Amino acid sequence: MQSAWPNQSIFSWLQQVLAERFGHTFSISSTESDTLWLSYQESPVQILLSIDPISFNKANSDLPFTTWDATGDGWASLLDRPLPAPGASTLSSPLIEPIQNGYRINYDILGLTYWMLSRLEETNRTNLDTHQRFAATSSHAFKHGYLERPVVDEWLGILGQVIQKAWPNLQLKQQQSGMKVSHDVDMPSQYGFRSPVGIARGMVADALKRRNFKGVFLAPWIRFNSQTSLHPADPANTFNWIMDVSERYGLVSAFYFICGRTDRAKDADYEPEHPAIRALMHDIHRRGHEIGLHPSYNSFQNPQQIQAEAQRLRRTCEEENIRQTVWGGRMHYLRWEHPTTMRAWDAAGLTYDSTLGYADYVGFRCGTCHEYPAYDLVEGKQLNLRIRPLIAMESTVTAPHYMGLGVGEAALKKFQDLKETCLAVGGCFTLLWHNSQFDSEAERELYKAVVSYKQTPLPCQSNS
Ligand SMILES: [Zn+2]
Repeated sequence: MQSAWPNQSIFSWLQQVLAERFGHTFSISSTESDTLWLSYQESPVQILLSIDPISFNKANSDLPFTTWDATGDGWASLLDRPLPAPGASTLSSPLIEPIQNGYRINYDILGLTYWMLSRLEETNRTNLDTHQRFAATSSHAFKHGYLERPVVDEWLGILGQVIQKAWPNLQLKQQQSGMKVSHDVDMPSQYGFRSPVGIARGMVADALKRRNFKGVFLAPWIRFNSQTSLHPADPANTFNWIMDVSERYGLVSAFYFICGRTDRAKDADYEPEHPAIRALMHDIHRRGHEIGLHPSYNSFQNPQQIQAEAQRLRRTCEEENIRQTVWGGRMHYLRWEHPTTMRAWDAAGLTYDSTLGYADYVGFRCGTCHEYPAYDLVEGKQLNLRIRPLIAMESTVTAPHYMGLGVGEAALKKFQDLKETCLAVGGCFTLLWHNSQFDSEAERELYKAVVSYKQTPLPCQSNS
């Protein structure tokens, strides 16, 4: 791998990450193997940071671990708890000390930032789950109990305090914290796009297995009345309800559409060009929400496929006069091969990807809830693509085969804790909730409770 920590290409990328975080450009340089310097314009003041190339060049999860009691050392911890310190087995005390012309930090905060954000840990891994995904349970963060901690944001919070002490006149950027909701459109309609045989099978299954007699009559009715728009009685047609909730809380919902079929069973049964989908996209756009891409099941190792699906989405939107400046999305089943999938998104000219969360556990796969520029650690260069980390998918919390917390109080508490953590570090709580996961009143109530939690309602949008 060309881009071993530390090198100049990583420094330029990290300068960008720090500039987005603090609102100022600091230069990062290093002349010795164990120390790097942070400096600001012509100021003679410097912040020295130690470098740990042994830990932060590891393309696996075998790093030592300890914690640091920031408060005990006289610094503020953003989450009021000792900070996880991956890569170190012991830390010197004091961890941060004043030196002539500045400060010295005896922990490799920037190495940790590189290791977490670049996802070096999951490059070329072979112990994958049944969908060939790198699982949370394989990660260093899960093994050491800090997956629900935005460890990079917490450490950059410490660095921010040191910067503020080193350059007291510098006004650091105030973070705009909040939440983003997105919806993978795996199934826009329960019955609308099924073949006649599929409808017949569904009717038999509804009657015999599910004892759902309403479904038996609804299925053919909806199927033959979904030619130009989704049927209002279709259980998966929750789009207006979702947009109503978002608008009530000042949020923009992003809907990611599947535009290809690489697995007959796991991909969607609709085509983006279908008149009912075009009408849906129109509605989404007209109401000021966002349309994005949800690349098909087997596209994650196939850049040409992702590119073709992105072009298909853009073409369909162009035909409908739908213009957006931002085109983002998320991989179906959160399938991701690093860095293949990331490069494919970049090459397809997409603005951001929001796949990087785990299916099996919620939390901070990239150690952050801030969006950041993608870095290709094999090529050793920053990409145009932005990474928007996914913090929670609804089924990760609720489904029995994942965390199994159901749709009651325990689930709500988990979502609230995550959202609170994101707000505390000035980040963004990115939540995925499928449009087809609002079958019960309890699911709808849970979703509304999560969205409204610590969210300021917009006074002029309360008609839903
Ligand atoms: Zn999906």
